[in-house]
Amino acid sequence: MTVPFLDLKAATAELSEPIHAAVRRVVDSGWYILGPEVEAFEAEFAAYCGAEHCVGVANGLDALKLSLLVFGVRPGDEVIVPSNTFIATNLAVSQIGAIPIPVEPDEATCNIDPARIEAKISPRTKAILPVHLYGLPADLDSVHEVAARHGIPVIEDAAQAHGARYKGKRIGAHSRAVAWSFYPGKNLGGLGDAGAITTSDKEVADRLRMLRNYGSSVKYRNDLVGYNSRLDPIQAAVLRVKLDHLEEWNGRRQAIAASYRARLAGSGLTLPAETNWGESSWHLFVVRHAQRDWLVRALAERGVEALIHYPVPPHKQQAYAGEAWTFEEQPIASRMADEVLSLPIGPQLSAAQAESVIEAVNAALAEDPAQRR
Ligand SMILES: *Cc1c(COP(=O)(O)O)cnc(C)c1O
Repeated sequence: MTVPFLDLKAATAELSEPIHAAVRRVVDSGWYILGPEVEAFEAEFAAYCGAEHCVGVANGLDALKLSLLVFGVRPGDEVIVPSNTFIATNLAVSQIGAIPIPVEPDEATCNIDPARIEAKISPRTKAILPVHLYGLPADLDSVHEVAARHGIPVIEDAAQAHGARYKGKRIGAHSRAVAWSFYPGKNLGGLGDAGAITTSDKEVADRLRMLRNYGSSVKYRNDLVGYNSRLDPIQAAVLRVKLDHLEEWNGRRQAIAASYRARLAGSGLTLPAETNWGESSWHLFVVRHAQRDWLVRALAERGVEALIHYPVPPHKQQAYAGEAWTFEEQPIASRMADEVLSLPIGPQLSAAQAESVIEAVNAALAEDPAQRR
């Protein structure tokens, strides 16, 4: 491969010195659970998002689960999710005994279609969980409108949206709770698992702090049936270093996306949609083509690694076979799973590599005119 999909080693290498210094600081501090490094990251990330509070947890899946729990979602309750998402969105719901209710996306934006939500709301619906898929903000005002009519909270899955903006304001403070993942491959990623929730509701933040730490706010006093899901101080220290570079790194993603968009217009690919409300974090640059599998192979032959996000929608996963909510086919999500491919994008992708991607796509699509669409 001359153009890997994502080069995490290069990302760490670019910040090698400050990252090693940050890790060393924690190692030498003697403080290995929560503490000052976690609190500092929480304050800095909350400020970045424009939220009042940030609660660091162990990973993105836990960030979603604890957010649902904090709003009282219980076994048997229903939670609205997009039909096309990474499985974690559904797992967060089902692992607490609740039922994910899929709602199809808008064809163009690939995000939950607010116009389809109302029909799926029942007396058991306790939350709406939109995902900013690929980094493009969902149509939040429209989602909030439906949620408000039914008096239920909106919890955002922002695992792909660090630095994305909705109507000019960064994702992180538009809903009552916003769940984040800092998995290494995300726009803001640690050197291992990490996650957080941002909120501007102090009571929600306080309860989340208890839930992540055995349901306790005073040592050995347990007021809630909590979890062990704490953000690791070593990851917090690394994330503080990387947060300082997030805007610059997102800017590089944005530049690559702009050149893909300009140079692949007319290539036959369906390019990512633009909306008048959202600025993407460009976590992924996802295109569509009817002969997707052929195109992925043709790009690989030209040294370009394209991946598929995601090849199987949650309602078709073996893990959920037999669940009542999977009986209804989700044709848009299924078609997307057959047609999407993600081109390499990332802060360490060079201009020359981006050029190779553009040339490979255009050459592949020119090779067999029958494949052009
Ligand atoms: C990465 C991701 C998650 C889960 O994050 P983890 O930190 O891996 O648990 C959840 N939702 C979406 C949309 C993601 O992309």
